[in-house]
Amino acid sequence: MRTQLYIDGQWVDGSGTLDVIDPSDGSVIAKVATSSDEQNLAAVDAADRAAASWAKTAPRIRSEILRKAFEMMIAEADYLAELISKENGKALPDAKAEVNYAAEFFRWFAEETVRISGDFRMAPSGDKRILVTHQPIGVSLLITPWNFPAGMATRKIGPAVAAGCTMILKPAGETPLTALAIVDILERCGLPKGVLNVILPAQTGPAISKVLHDSRVKNLSFTGSTFVGKILLKEAADQVIRCSMELGGNAPFVVLDDANIEEAVKGLMMAKMRNGGAACTAANRIYVARSIGDKFIAEFSKAMAALKMGVGREAGTQLGASVSIKERNKIAELVDASKAGGAKVHLGGTTPDGAGAFYPATVLEVSKDDKILANEVFGPVAPVVLFDTDEEALAMANDTEFGLISYVYSEDLKRAIRFAEGIEAGMVGINRGLLSDPAAPFGGVKQSGLGREGGFDGVHEFLQTKYIGVEI
Ligand code: ADP
Repeated sequence: MRTQLYIDGQWVDGSGTLDVIDPSDGSVIAKVATSSDEQNLAAVDAADRAAASWAKTAPRIRSEILRKAFEMMIAEADYLAELISKENGKALPDAKAEVNYAAEFFRWFAEETVRISGDFRMAPSGDKRILVTHQPIGVSLLITPWNFPAGMATRKIGPAVAAGCTMILKPAGETPLTALAIVDILERCGLPKGVLNVILPAQTGPAISKVLHDSRVKNLSFTGSTFVGKILLKEAADQVIRCSMELGGNAPFVVLDDANIEEAVKGLMMAKMRNGGAACTAANRIYVARSIGDKFIAEFSKAMAALKMGVGREAGTQLGASVSIKERNKIAELVDASKAGGAKVHLGGTTPDGAGAFYPATVLEVSKDDKILANEVFGPVAPVVLFDTDEEALAMANDTEFGLISYVYSEDLKRAIRFAEGIEAGMVGINRGLLSDPAAPFGGVKQSGLGREGGFDGVHEFLQTKYIGVEI
């Protein structure tokens, strides 16, 4: 297990350590090195030194490093999944799905590396040729959250390698072990020294601020809360650093009155409960047509009640622990406030005793003004609101500053597409509860972010366009 920092191709101790906790019992899994300001600077130095030659590397070489890393992740999937489950708490099936998803970013971007195209044409006026090329933007700072410690890292490292950018990765303090394991794989696949460096400052805010004020850093790719995203956008303004921001979501899941209830429940189980609800794509506000409300809630509650909660890596567990007691308590507080405000509890809703950061599958029926709907719950809690008309459902779905993802269920595709077109979100699932796909552009509108990851767009977050006018 890697627990050191990785700077300029060397595994090194830090200025201190932080404890990585198994949230299912509170035990310390590992002590991971934290980086000093000097080491953060050394990481920028290394990334900057490596940048020019890395940018010139043949795309085929970069592509093959990613392809090998994809294969190695798949070969080591069981180990990686256990590690994710241990430090994050999620159930092993979720962790295995994440390893697969994460590895697929390496495969997808291995394929994209050799397909970065340009453009050469005559200007409409005929006075010159227009040559458009895309060049690596340069040293990129990647900041990842704890909910998908593998997926969020590969979703940034993959396109950075494809584009030919060097990197400084700052994983979440709760889940650094997975990121370090992935870096170890990339090292074994031949990633040259200095191309990818890992830092983990003990005081994140001030340390990252210094890195962002270093003029050699050109690009920031962040996944995390809207709150921190806004701070970083302000920090990045100082050097006018390019920003890609995957921020919070508060996804509506809308079940119209002609939906196939069985399919919608299946989709909601996926959209709500993948990763124990700790996903920015998680259905957070469930809007159900009143005419099918009772039946839907009964069937959904039955499916939720059947989930086995327990230690993530134990056989049979479907709902693991939250990442920490602090996160679990945030979930509990939101539910308690909702209950105090008159929510009807159909399932769960009480915090279990014991050391682990567990919270049970919970189904609430709430009014459209319940405050729980304004918060990203990040846990296994499903607040359901009943509605009467499609217009009312659409207005409620859009009544948020977030706009990451939405889901709509209807047997009438015309009606569903009309609804999807009206929803303010970067992604919409029609009769599907799972959208994330390395080959599709992931990202939000409104305060859910800027830019897209994955798909054909992903690599362009790490490229800058250059126009060369040629007199011929
Ligand atoms: P979450 O609620 O998912 O933990 P955060 O936005 O708090 O989301 O964290 C996402 C990532 O941002 C983590 O790696 C975290 O350490 C990092 N982070 C938190 N605060 C700051 C900050 N002020 N500056 C830079 N990174 C930060």
